[in-house]
Amino acid sequence: MERSLRCPVCAARARDRELRPGQELRCARCGSTIKRPDRRGLAHAAWAAASTGLVLGVLANVYPILTFEVAGRRQATGIAGGVAGLLNQG
Ligand SMILES: [Zn+2]
Repeated sequence: MERSLRCPVCAARARDRELRPGQELRCARCGSTIKRPDRRGLAHAAWAAASTGLVLGVLANVYPILTFEVAGRRQATGIAGGVAGLLNQG
C-alpha cells in the first residue's frame, strides 16, 4: 500500500518515497518541503560501528596474538604487549 503525505502549508497530497541523503520531497503545488531523509538511520549505523569496534578492540587486547618461542621458552603477548616489547628493543 502506497503512503501519501500532506503538505504542511497547502495540504496537497504527495506520494511518499524513500529519500537519499541530500534529497527532499517537495510539494508540487507550493514548493514547500514535505519530507527530509531520516538522519536517525545514519546515527544508528555510526553507533553500531563504534560499539562493534569497542568490543573487538577489547577482545583483541585480551587474547594474545603474538607467541614467541626461543630456545624452548614460550611467551605470548597481546597487541599492547607486542608494541611495548618492540619499543623496548629499539
Ligand atoms: Zn504545498
